[in-house]
Amino acid sequence: MVRGAVQTGPLAYEIRSFPRPTIGPDEGLLRVEACGVCGSDVEQYRGHLVRPGMFPLIPGHEPLGVIEEVGERAAERWGVSVGDRVAVEILRPCRACDYCLTGRYMSCPNRDGAYGMTPLSRSPSLWGGFADYLYLHPWAILHKVRGDLPPEIAVMFNPLGAGVRWAAMLGEVGLGDTVLILGPGQRGLTSVIAARARGAGTIIVTGLSRDAHKLALAREFGADHTIDVEQEDVVARVTEITGGAMADVVLELTPIADQPIRDAIECVRHSGRIVLAGLKGGKQIELVTDRLINKGVTIRGAFGVNADAYIEAIRIIESGRFPLEKMASGTFELADTEAAIQALADGDAIHTCVCPDNGSAMAGIAASREEAANAG
Ligand SMILES: [Zn+2]
Ligand SMILES: [Zn+2]
Repeated sequence: MVRGAVQTGPLAYEIRSFPRPTIGPDEGLLRVEACGVCGSDVEQYRGHLVRPGMFPLIPGHEPLGVIEEVGERAAERWGVSVGDRVAVEILRPCRACDYCLTGRYMSCPNRDGAYGMTPLSRSPSLWGGFADYLYLHPWAILHKVRGDLPPEIAVMFNPLGAGVRWAAMLGEVGLGDTVLILGPGQRGLTSVIAARARGAGTIIVTGLSRDAHKLALAREFGADHTIDVEQEDVVARVTEITGGAMADVVLELTPIADQPIRDAIECVRHSGRIVLAGLKGGKQIELVTDRLINKGVTIRGAFGVNADAYIEAIRIIESGRFPLEKMASGTFELADTEAAIQALADGDAIHTCVCPDNGSAMAGIAASREEAANAG
């Protein structure tokens, strides 16, 4: 049997058993080594981002694992064999529509849903990374990852992919650029790494007073300056640091807060670039749009991450150039998936992941809990 951590509703998880699926010629089965916990898992746990009919389901959309079984045609198409370690992308696009054919597969209108968001009712139920095994649909996108890295580091392909996409690709960070990163969360930190890897000049990161440990880590990853927004004025500090030249690129990654958007507009240089990736819960934000016109600013919305960015992120991880282990705040057994999500929700953890195989003692406890649940 295969264990899966099933979310049955807001604040409700339970471990359930599933039959191992039979794999056809175009499909595969992944033995999950680690699955990253994402801010959206936290929101879904709290009962936000909930759509009618989505529960029960196995969440987890940042899976890393080893090919356990693969159909003959799928092996050829994906270029993988049993035993290869791969990272799995969240979306399952059709690869045939105009969007897919022009490289914008994240907008594929025919896509077969997303990992971590497909309900259990759809066979074979194993659609989430918080499980022993993940079903690999024919449209799944896989990227090979070197097998000798610790799984809790290799699984950072997802947040690092976001940093690469937002800073390097959408922000077009170039040699010597001054980069301002608003928000020091896991994606702010990976944006520091991506900006450093791209040859940025000065990197500045902002955070709250309680983010002191995250700002310290930002400096370890290569940030030159950090700003505590509760103690200092962001615009005044950026003006001082840059001698009035301001930032070539500003990344806005803070959730909900609207002031950082206005700070971004003030802190970007004339004809600079702003990347918006911090969701504001649908609220309206007051802006003086004349400032954007008069500064000739380019603004880009960051929707998700694509294969280009994942591939570059995997190369950065494999290079061993950055001490990514310092972002690892905890690995959790499958039975403790809820604890992994709560640890991230509490706000001090930077990156947590669920490693189903991690510690057979915990697996034993899970099995006995499961027996108790079935008996009850
Ligand atoms: Zn995510
Ligand atoms: Zn498509």
